[in-house]
Amino acid sequence: MTTHNHDTPNPYHKSDRDDAANKAIEERVDKIESLLLEKGLVSQDALEKLADIYENDLGPMNGAKVVARAWVDDEFKKRLLDDATSAIAELGYGGLQGEHVVVKENTPEVHNVVVCTLCSCYPWPILGLPPNWYKSFAYRSKVVIEPREVLAEFGTSLADDVEVRVWDSSAEIRYLVLPERPEGTGNFSEEELAAIVKRDDMIGVTTVTVP
Ligand code: FE
Repeated sequence: MTTHNHDTPNPYHKSDRDDAANKAIEERVDKIESLLLEKGLVSQDALEKLADIYENDLGPMNGAKVVARAWVDDEFKKRLLDDATSAIAELGYGGLQGEHVVVKENTPEVHNVVVCTLCSCYPWPILGLPPNWYKSFAYRSKVVIEPREVLAEFGTSLADDVEVRVWDSSAEIRYLVLPERPEGTGNFSEEELAAIVKRDDMIGVTTVTVP
């Protein structure tokens, strides 16, 4: 049984970079973008299309649909745990940075959490782009050594007898956590279930709660 407190301030929700550094990067990106447009190497339409895909088509709502399907369909769940890439493709998600997805199931005995200790590998088609804290050195270095402490910083406390497993993503394997279906959701539709699954639940730093 896990509890979750949304009021706990979370140190990882700050970026590694300060505002000045972010501004410098933004200015650089703007310059590169103007040059690419000026030289006719990309079109404004293509750039907008790309931004739109990352903002609207790829995102945690896709992962949430995968989780909800697994909660209502045992056969799908089996396929998902057995070969996540193909099972996820059944729902129409796949492609760049999602070629080899492995799903780890949370149970009353085991809680899974995902990191990329080297950089920021992440399953884009189902979770979108990684949040800044996921890419931060603080998270990457601490979660492998003191996962329970990091979970506590996200407001997640697990019973002492729950085993915490940390999965290190790589260019070859991207992990997704299949959270536990919360109590009191027995009569939820698949759509209603998908609506309560948040990005951080699928990274494993939080657990799904009923709002
Ligand atoms: Fe990485």
